[in-house]
Amino acid sequence: MSKIIKCYYCGKVIETENQLVEKKIPMATKVGIRNYRRKFHMNCLPKYLEGRADKSLLTKENNDWNAVYNYFRKELLGLGETKSLDTHTVRRLTGLRLGQYYPNGQNVRILPRGYDFKTILLTMKVVKPKVNMYVSNTNFSNSKHRTDGIMRFITGEINDVSQRIEQQNKASEKLMKDKDIPSFDYKAKLKEKKQEQGNTVQNDINNLFGGQL
Ligand SMILES: [Zn+2]
Repeated sequence: MSKIIKCYYCGKVIETENQLVEKKIPMATKVGIRNYRRKFHMNCLPKYLEGRADKSLLTKENNDWNAVYNYFRKELLGLGETKSLDTHTVRRLTGLRLGQYYPNGQNVRILPRGYDFKTILLTMKVVKPKVNMYVSNTNFSNSKHRTDGIMRFITGEINDVSQRIEQQNKASEKLMKDKDIPSFDYKAKLKEKKQEQGNTVQNDINNLFGGQL
């Protein structure tokens, strides 16, 4: 095909015409629900529709998003629960979900691209000490400046965290092939380690992530 077309679901190039399917996808905008024509690999469209139809998957991802939102607000910005994150910060965080700066107005849920919210949350926990120091030692010209500064710590660390999670997943898949338990649950993992060693959460993150902090 003459023009480079990327799949809405996987983000990879659609190489040939006969792999291409189009479907109108509803999206929440400021003026209500609008339908946008999206391009997919023929194999990717059913996966996307299945994911959208799976309410438990959506609920889970929405919960993960809430955890990311709350952690950024409280632990990185030190704001109380009554405060909202500004639009720029929300767009940076949902953009990161797709591995981008801003999300380009797309729905970010379900898509297997970028980083899942669990990975983003864990990365924030890893960089928290550095971010807290940076925030208290910097004069920011505005909240955008502050958010972009914090995001640099997160984007600088996230590939490393994501790789470690993948390795963990592979290792526990091997171990727990026949058992029906989640392959990686860092909270359970941290709790387990904490009980074992009576360590602080900080030390637990060090243990999981190689003591590089
Ligand atoms: Zn695709």
